[in-house]
Amino acid sequence: MAGLFVTFVVGMIAAVVMGLIASAIGQLFYLILIFPVVIGFAVGMAMSLAARLSKMHSVAAGGVIGFFCGVVAMLVVHFSDYLWALAAGLPPDVSFPEFMHLQATEGVQIGRRGGGINLGYTGSFIYWGIEMLAVAVIVFALGLAQASSPFCVECNAWKKGRTYGPFRGEPSEAKAFVEAGDVAQLGVAGDPGPGGGTTLRLIVSVCPHCRTDGPVEVRLQKVTKTKEGESISELCHTTYPGDVVALIDAIPEQQPDEIAPRKKRRRRDD
Ligand SMILES: [Zn+2]
Repeated sequence: MAGLFVTFVVGMIAAVVMGLIASAIGQLFYLILIFPVVIGFAVGMAMSLAARLSKMHSVAAGGVIGFFCGVVAMLVVHFSDYLWALAAGLPPDVSFPEFMHLQATEGVQIGRRGGGINLGYTGSFIYWGIEMLAVAVIVFALGLAQASSPFCVECNAWKKGRTYGPFRGEPSEAKAFVEAGDVAQLGVAGDPGPGGGTTLRLIVSVCPHCRTDGPVEVRLQKVTKTKEGESISELCHTTYPGDVVALIDAIPEQQPDEIAPRKKRRRRDD
């Protein structure tokens, strides 16, 4: 419970601080897309760090708190804009909703004044809504990712992940091996064929305290390298009994070229 409270409080503080900073910088200039993404990541990372340190591992709470903090951050941006406007001479009898109404009437301007596009009244509210949703989704995703990291409930500790690979192999064949608990077979999975940049890796998460006495979590990921960078997709996520760790430890350290599947080597020899 303490973890939940700490995560919530840190997330809220980060949301308020980032909202105030964005609004202050926004008095000079505002970068559409970039500002919301920066706000989302800053709040999400602060919240995730708090969750990690306070051992908050409720997936639902990670998502809900994240989404909520994202919404709060953008509300703070708008409310702080309102305070800046009051300080700059907006009549004090103008309320916050009235201020938003005035802002929308003026319309959100995209691009340079004169040459850009004005989103108009409804368009401005839609834009603010999308912006708020984008920030909330980023914080939600980061909170969810941290809270769903492998955790040992008995020891109250995050499990430590080790990565094995890269393996080359046919993804569905490798997935079948991992699901059957036969990780030693990974290097034997058939060749994926041409299309080259795809490799597989195994992430094994073990509790640092109970090690082989507790369950270990095993994830098989497909890593596709493209010109733009890496894209990672998860093929399967399963749990093994702890005594499997010895078997996994026996998997040799992999070097990309040494794991060329045996099948392929045989074919070459023929
Ligand atoms: Zn443990």
